[in-house]
Amino acid sequence: MIDRFGRTIDYLRMSVTDRCNLRCQYCMPEGLARLLRHEEILSFEEIVEVARTAVGMGFTKVRLTGGEPLVRRDIEQLVAMLAKIEGIEDLAMSTNGILLDDYAAVLAAAGLHRVNISLDSMDPEHYAQMTGGGDLQRVLAGIEAAREARLVPIKLNCVVTESSTEPDALAVARFARDNGLEARFIHMMDLATGKFFVVEGGVGGDCPRCNRVRLSSDGMVRPCLFSNLAFSVRELGVSQALEQAIWEKPAAGGPCTHNWMHGIGG
Ligand code: SF4
Repeated sequence: MIDRFGRTIDYLRMSVTDRCNLRCQYCMPEGLARLLRHEEILSFEEIVEVARTAVGMGFTKVRLTGGEPLVRRDIEQLVAMLAKIEGIEDLAMSTNGILLDDYAAVLAAAGLHRVNISLDSMDPEHYAQMTGGGDLQRVLAGIEAAREARLVPIKLNCVVTESSTEPDALAVARFARDNGLEARFIHMMDLATGKFFVVEGGVGGDCPRCNRVRLSSDGMVRPCLFSNLAFSVRELGVSQALEQAIWEKPAAGGPCTHNWMHGIGG
C-alpha cells in the first residue's frame, strides 16, 4: 500500500513476545514495566491472519521479532504457518542468537529465509555485562548453525552509543568482515525524546523512505516506532487496523511515550 506521503509500505515487523532471555541495558532496564499476560498475547492463528491480510494489501516482507522470538514456545510452527502464505518474498527473524544453535535447522526446515543477530561486543565479559549475563560463545555457535542451515545472508545488528568507530563496534565489524557477514550499526535511540538515527548499513530510521509498520505481541499495529499511534487488530479487526495504521502513518518519527523496545521489537 502507498501511504499519504507516497511511501510504499510493504514490510511488516511482527513481535511475537515481549519476553526475553537477556536483559540488555538499553532495552530491558531494571524496574521494567510489567510483562504482558498470556491472554494478552496474540495466538499463532491471529498472527497468521494479520500476515495473510497484510500480504493481500501488498506486503511482501515479514520479520519476526520480540523481545526474543525464540523464547516463544513452538516458534518453528508459526514460521511453518507463515511460510505457507503465498506472497511473502522475505521471511526473516531478528534474534539475540542465544538459542539459535538449537533452532537454526528446524527454522530453516520450517521455511525461514534468514536471520539478523544482535551482537554488540566480541569481548565475552563486556558482552555478559551489556546483556545482563549473556554467553557470547552461544551466540557464536548460533551464527555457525545459521550459516550451516543456510539462513543467509546473516546480518549482525550492533548497537553503538555514539559511533561505529567505538572499540566494540570495530571488533564486530572485523568479525563480520572475516566471516562473510554483514554488520549494521544502530545508534542508541531515545523513544521519550524522539532521538534516533538512520541505521548504518541498513535503512531503518530513514523516515522519507520508511516502508514498515509493526505489530506488537498484544495485537497493536503501530505505524511508526517513534509515535504513540496504535490500532488494535482485536478491537478494529485486522483489515481496518492495518489500513488505518498505514493511512495515519506519520511523515517522520518523534517523541513517544507508549512504546517500549522489548514490546515492539525495535
Ligand atoms: S521513525 Fe517512524 S517513520 Fe521514521 S523510519 Fe522509524 S518507523 Fe519509519
